Amino acid sequence: MSKSFNRKKSAKIKKKVKILFQSPKGMHDILPNNQPFFLKIRQVGEKIADIYSFSKIDTPILEQKAIFERAVGEATDIVQKQMFATKSRGDDQLVLRPEGTAPIMRAYLQHSLGHLSQPLKLFYEGPMFRYEQPQAGRFRQHYQIGFEIIGTNDPIYDAQIILLATNFLEELKIKKMNIQINSIGCNICRQKYKRRLLAYYENKQNELCADCRKRLSINPLRILDCKNQHCEIFKKDAPIILDNLCPSCKTHFRSVLEYLDEASLTYVLNFHLVRGLDYYNRTVFELFSDEFDFALGGGGRYDYLSQMLGGPKIPAVGVSFGIERLVEVMKIKNIEGITIKKPKVFLIQLGNQAKKKSIKILKELYNAGIKTTEALDKDSLRVQLKVADKNGANFALILGQREVLDDTIILRDMETGAQENIAIDKIIDEIKKRA
Ligand code: AMP
Repeated sequence: MSKSFNRKKSAKIKKKVKILFQSPKGMHDILPNNQPFFLKIRQVGEKIADIYSFSKIDTPILEQKAIFERAVGEATDIVQKQMFATKSRGDDQLVLRPEGTAPIMRAYLQHSLGHLSQPLKLFYEGPMFRYEQPQAGRFRQHYQIGFEIIGTNDPIYDAQIILLATNFLEELKIKKMNIQINSIGCNICRQKYKRRLLAYYENKQNELCADCRKRLSINPLRILDCKNQHCEIFKKDAPIILDNLCPSCKTHFRSVLEYLDEASLTYVLNFHLVRGLDYYNRTVFELFSDEFDFALGGGGRYDYLSQMLGGPKIPAVGVSFGIERLVEVMKIKNIEGITIKKPKVFLIQLGNQAKKKSIKILKELYNAGIKTTEALDKDSLRVQLKVADKNGANFALILGQREVLDDTIILRDMETGAQENIAIDKIIDEIKKRA
């Protein structure tokens, strides 16, 4: 066969498998090779949750749109531009949840979780959706793992949530982290600060970027968040929120820092850290790793969230991490995900009788909890042994015509190649003996 014929043939095959559908923009399949990282992060999250006595909570992926309008804020990017909205047949305005904290407070109020022992510590894990321009570290569907402490305004819990966050990263072997922290005050001192900020920017409006000009009227604090070079110039002389805190917010923040010092945590005061969501007040923080530009996680206190959702005053504090970003850092740092155990046994069958019998043997192996794999659709010994080798199995069990008649099976050590014939009803014991 000529080379050009072969080339034509393979081009034809390629054409045949033309891909019709792709995952939606900014949303990714998590393929088997990436699962060990996700599993590791979930496992470590569960371990940390258990050590700190957090209980798991799952909320629906769809929520009422109004929850986020009230809690995250009508003027925020998340609500203005980033929500995936849909309508139920009954005309309920629903959205794919963009974040996890507001739904948890909704669940807390709905199920009167205030009756449980307080503060209530809850953790969650799952997909969040934000209609953003996809880029590295920013997706339209991403996964978050988060921890919330609800029912206390004690600053020691702000410190505990930051300590937990650092323990979580350390347990993942992400050691070199940078904690940035700030206080954005309460509703009273923040209003005063906003007025001072507006006065400072009043005659600089024309020199700000278009986004910041908009922010001046809807959410002036976000100007401090802007990374635009022109806007950066003005930030350094802008009034600082910490100088404008009321006495009780000042005392609260000082206590948080003292507790962090007591826990020997190193942090950086970042006067420009405001976090984008309306429900935050007082302590806000973000965690970075040296190798990555984006925040790995962030959080803060949200003492007004319950009231924003129509409940009583229930102070709370929390943190959440972006799982994809953690995976990215783990890869950069050569940190491994969970180790997937290799199969102990590979079952090889030769001939119809053996194939028939193999289903019963597999059942016994599964029942005994012995990790097994096989290639039941293959016939040849050579091919099946090759697959067994590729799978990294410790032993092959070979069932041929003769073994079926004798009620025996061949046990082959895949490393040494040594083989022995054993009675079929002794397989489990013999494999367990060699564990
Ligand atoms: P936020 O609620 O915006 O503070 O997000 C919490 C964490 O989720 C961030 O620190 C990121 O690690 C992660 N995150 C937020 N938005 C995205 C996104 N669009 N794509 C990937 N990760 C994200």
